[in-house]
Amino acid sequence: MQTERRDRPTWLEIDLSAIQHNFTVARQAVSPKVKIFPVIKANGYGLGAWPIAQRLMEAGADGFCVALVKEAEPLRRAGVTLPMVLLSGLTPGMEEAVVGLQLQPFVFDRHTLPALNRAVGAGRPLPLFLKINTGMGRLGLAITEVEAAITELQPLTGLQLAGLVSHLSCADEPNHPENDRQRHRLHQVLTETGLTTSFVSLANSAALLSRAETHFSWVRPGIMLYGASPFFPTNTGRTIGLRPVVRWLTRILQLSALSAGESVGYSRTFIAQRPSRIAILPVGYADGYNRLLGNQAQVLVAGHRVPVVGRVSMDMIAIDVTELPQVSVGQLVTLLGSEGEEHIDVEEMAAWRGTIPYEVLCNVGERVPRYYVG
Ligand SMILES: *Cc1c(COP(=O)(O)O)cnc(C)c1O
Repeated sequence: MQTERRDRPTWLEIDLSAIQHNFTVARQAVSPKVKIFPVIKANGYGLGAWPIAQRLMEAGADGFCVALVKEAEPLRRAGVTLPMVLLSGLTPGMEEAVVGLQLQPFVFDRHTLPALNRAVGAGRPLPLFLKINTGMGRLGLAITEVEAAITELQPLTGLQLAGLVSHLSCADEPNHPENDRQRHRLHQVLTETGLTTSFVSLANSAALLSRAETHFSWVRPGIMLYGASPFFPTNTGRTIGLRPVVRWLTRILQLSALSAGESVGYSRTFIAQRPSRIAILPVGYADGYNRLLGNQAQVLVAGHRVPVVGRVSMDMIAIDVTELPQVSVGQLVTLLGSEGEEHIDVEEMAAWRGTIPYEVLCNVGERVPRYYVG
């Protein structure tokens, strides 16, 4: 399959059938009556929200979660009619857009309710969620404010309470006692307000996969759909039955011979200890190939692992192919993904640069073209 532009021999290949498989894993992990709202914020974790949304609609997604109005807009324009939830909440000034795009916001500040109600006017009541801080210590109403918020909602006829939502701080550690503490606080709110669990969402990927008691009425998986493990670094997506979604590919731009003592790149951080063959690749930190990967990462060439040497530049990196005399200019190089029997998973790249798989995916630069297979 042709998945490459001649003017940019560095690209991402995104396997939509793998995303579909990972959605099926989520579907099988929850009871059939639990709704699944895939999280496609940050342009689908960097991979392209619209093609992914399209495939997930076919696969049976019940709605979507985005972070920003700006992310929802192109999806609505492209034809996503499913419910769309706004995770980062409602801030003053976005009411018109929220109503216009029919987004269901997470409300974390009850003082924002009247303006939203005015924006709805005589239109169809807008569903919204009260976002509650049960222990994440980030966005949310305090538990003690929830009853007041519900009381304030009652006369606002343009608004409809669609449920309560909260977020777990330690879901990636399934046995962490904070998971139960947060869940109990949520149950306490339900008891106090007389609402039922059919109103609640709590689970991200980690909770979805590890704790059925967090599923409630709808779940919000993100990272697992993109093939990476939410339990990083304990395991990888591959080892928990998810299929890798991304391959990040490039081609050798130039080959050169170095004598012992000659160096590669800025600040001479790599000095050849032997006569060496160095290949230059057209990818750099402006593409999201992080600078911390210099002298740290490996890539796959002809199915073999070889090291990245020297600093990562803005547009280029160097690899040491001394051990592979047969390589040539234009040859395919795999930065992420599998080649033959070998693979570099997003978890491994995250570990090399001291981050999490989420950030590796989100950081792939806009100038790297995305192609879709499967
Ligand atoms: C991003 C996000 C999610 C998805 O989390 P994953 O760990 O990627 O599954 C779920 N809920 C909220 C509120 C989020 O911000």
